Amino acid sequence: MSTLKKSVKISGKGIHSGNPVDIVVLPSKKYGIFFQRTDIPNSDLILATYDNVGETKMRNTTIGNLRGAHVQTIEHLMAALFIAGIDSAIIQINGAETPIIDGSAEHFYQEFIKAGVTGGARKKIIVKRTVIAHAAELRRGMNVFVRMKWWLINTLAGRKSNGYVKLEPNDGKALEITATLIYPEKIIGNQSYSYVFDGTKKSVADFVKNIARARTFGKFSEWKYLKAHGMGRGADETNVIALNNRGDGTLNKTIWPDEFVRHKIIDAIGDMYTSGGFVIGRLESFKGSHALNNLVLKKLFSDASNYDIIE
Ligand SMILES: [Zn+2]
Repeated sequence: MSTLKKSVKISGKGIHSGNPVDIVVLPSKKYGIFFQRTDIPNSDLILATYDNVGETKMRNTTIGNLRGAHVQTIEHLMAALFIAGIDSAIIQINGAETPIIDGSAEHFYQEFIKAGVTGGARKKIIVKRTVIAHAAELRRGMNVFVRMKWWLINTLAGRKSNGYVKLEPNDGKALEITATLIYPEKIIGNQSYSYVFDGTKKSVADFVKNIARARTFGKFSEWKYLKAHGMGRGADETNVIALNNRGDGTLNKTIWPDEFVRHKIIDAIGDMYTSGGFVIGRLESFKGSHALNNLVLKKLFSDASNYDIIE
């Protein structure tokens, strides 16, 4: 178990709502990452677990409890907690969505390290059998309106839906992630990136140097649609890489030409942390999504012979 040495306050605005929001990440003696909505009277703690992930609303990971309290866009914060080695914390939040800051995991991570982390070994979840989640399975689970919205967004973006996320056993020491993006937009095209996290300082430093700063991205033409549907209202050039309408360039500067796929590594790490521990295995994300990351965890935990837990 490990937690922060002192509390950390981070303020910003939600990328979808555009509303100002503060989070206070508190040290905790109880294992798990919990969220608490301070703007809702007597709000229960919401455990950040794959089981509490609701509709992944196309573009983010949202958790909620049965009483209807929810917290949106937790993935970058979860990735920073994972890399910083924090497995026990209570995150008080005075709104429905975490601050987007610059669209990456960098600021969260640096604030946690500044406050200091104390504690011992990580809980490990060893993948023993291969599980795979296909995009086609997600469509089957959608109601007709969500399916239409999903189809429209993908058609507008010119995307085919043959994506999958696969978790398979490896040598039992690390979380090995490979993400692949295939986009019709020339500026993204076909990008792959691999990252190995084994808990060593070297793998943490690799994340900080090469991945932590990678930002969310979106097509400028899609923003209009998202904003009209109450999403992306807080998105601007400071927190999203905006692709131009021709798809051959960006309106703001990228840090790396493959920043897009590097960001997918952050999303995958954050989503895998809703497992409640350090997933040991090989994760292959081919045109992946938050919904697929969630489905692959549900499949992993659906059968006790798929995994081992080492406390
Ligand atoms: Zn993201």
